[in-house]
Formats: sequence, C-alpha cells, structure tokens
Amino acid sequence: MLQQTQVKTVLPFYARFMGAYPDIKSLAQSDLQDVLKQWEGLGYYARARNLHRTACLVVADHDGILPSDRPRLQKLPGIGDYIAAAVLSIAFNQPYPVVDGNVKRVLARLFEMDANVNQSTAIKQFKTAAHELIDARRPGDFNQAMMELGALVCTPANPDCDTCPVSFACLAFEHRTVALYPQKIKAKPTPKVHLAIGVVFRDDRVLITKRPPDGLLGGLWEFPGGEVKRKERPATACARALKQALNLKVTVDAFLTQVTHAYTHFKIKADVFICAYQEGPLKLGQAVDYRWIGIEEIEQYPFPKANHKFFDVLRAAAANRPA
Ligand code: SF4
Repeated sequence: MLQQTQVKTVLPFYARFMGAYPDIKSLAQSDLQDVLKQWEGLGYYARARNLHRTACLVVADHDGILPSDRPRLQKLPGIGDYIAAAVLSIAFNQPYPVVDGNVKRVLARLFEMDANVNQSTAIKQFKTAAHELIDARRPGDFNQAMMELGALVCTPANPDCDTCPVSFACLAFEHRTVALYPQKIKAKPTPKVHLAIGVVFRDDRVLITKRPPDGLLGGLWEFPGGEVKRKERPATACARALKQALNLKVTVDAFLTQVTHAYTHFKIKADVFICAYQEGPLKLGQAVDYRWIGIEEIEQYPFPKANHKFFDVLRAAAANRPA
C-alpha cells in the first residue's frame, strides 16, 4: 500500500523488488543491507526495514503465512491501522475501510464534511463515514475503488464531476460546493536545514559512514557532515562537524556543489566539500560503522537520494584529482 507515494514512482521499484524477493521467505533470508539497496531512491526507508523485520517474524512465528486477524497482524512491524485495513480487506475480504488522503477527500465532498483532512484527530470521523459506506461483500474492491476515485476522478484540483460514477450521491456536487471541500487547517511552513557535507579523501579512498539502524534514513550509508550554524561559513561548519562527529581533522580543499532535497517534514540544502584527511583516529559518534572506499565502489552501498544528487560531479572531480 502506498502512502505519500505515487503509483508511477513505485512501479519500477516494485518490479525490481519482487524480482529480488518473490516471496516472504526469500525476503526473510536476505540481508537488510541488500534490501535497502533494492529500495534505494524510494525514500521512507523505515518501510523497507519494517518489511524485512516483518518477513523474518512471519517466517519464524507464523509458518511463513501472514496472519488474517487484526490483533496479530498489527503486532508486526510497520503494520498500523491503514496497512491492516488494506491487507485484511483486499487479501482476506474483511470489512475494514481504508482511509487515506484520497479517500478522505472523496468522503469530505460526498458528505460535505467539515472535518479537516490534515488534522489527525479528524480521522475518526472519516473512518466512521467510510464504515457506513463499505460494501461488506466486496470490501477490498470497495476500498480500491474509493482510492482510485480519489486519485483519478475526485482529484484535489478540478475534479471530473461530469464523469464521476457517484455524482448522483454527492452532496458537494448537488450543492455546487465542491471547491469548499475538503477543508484543511493551514500547514506550518516546512523547516529548512542547511548542511555541510565532507567528501574526505585519504589517498585515493573516500570516507563513508553508516547511519544508526532506526530513525531517518536508518541503516543507509552517507558522506558525513553536519548542520551549519547561524552565521557560520559552510566550509568551517564542514571541518567542525567532521571533528565533532568523527574526531577527524581535515583540510577543506574545495567546494564541490550544492544540492537540495525535500523530505516529508523538512527540506535540506547541503554544501558539499572535497576534504583531505589530516589526522585523528576515527571515532564513531552517532554513526555505527565506516569504510574507506574507492569512488567506483559507491554503487555497492545504499545511499540517501540527497547523496546521489552529487555523485556524478564527485566522480568527475575524483577523476581529475592529482594522483
Ligand atoms: Fe468528487 Fe465530483 Fe464525484 Fe463529488 S461528484 S465525488 S466532488 S468527483
């Protein structure tokens, strides 16, 4: 099931992932690092980690078969209300409504609901409305139809009411109030974070570090760095962050590039520098592992998308470095 991710974004990943892990057992037997590599570029890495952990638990505790009752299903990592409702309705024909952003929009317009779609406390009202509508004989088809209706017809802007198969029952359509729904509370501006990242060369090898297994981008490898403080020069921040995070003294030799990336709840702008190792036994702080690798080995490790954005320019810079 997809949340905050579009189908067309996922399709190539889905084919690749299913090719690598065609069933629960093969996923359970795989190494997490390989799973993250298959997932690389898709974001939301907790989903990959949870999928892997869930596969291991299903094989170990449930004979390799996904439980079909809600309490046991929701004990598995990453399976909350939304995924449980989707799995139970689509795979096991049980009457649980799936309520995602698309479905909330459809419901808000169908019933002229005043509940705010982006307020977590309003979810109960949307679930109640969906419960009243669900077709108990074909709950999986009903849920998929609602999600598709929201994605393809009852779109956020310019819904296609003239071809909508449920316009006969839609209060907003009847009252010409479609533009007023769904209602939302004004979102806060997205915080922005300024980072300085160091590509630290030691002879012809570069340093990469591994993030802790849980949390944002958990288990991925990255080029180390840290946040730029107010009024601090990014190059100074880079050297300071490498010293603080890894006990490394480096010289900052050149500015490589700047990349930007948007995560769900914040945006980053990262200045990337070419650095040279000077001294210091490397000490891991938050990072859980490190490697000195050749540039050509980058592809073997799973990296965040923000790092991928400077790989081409890094390869070119590395090729032009004096031997
Ligand atoms: Fe959405 Fe229009 Fe259909 Fe109502 S009639 S559900 S507003 S597309």
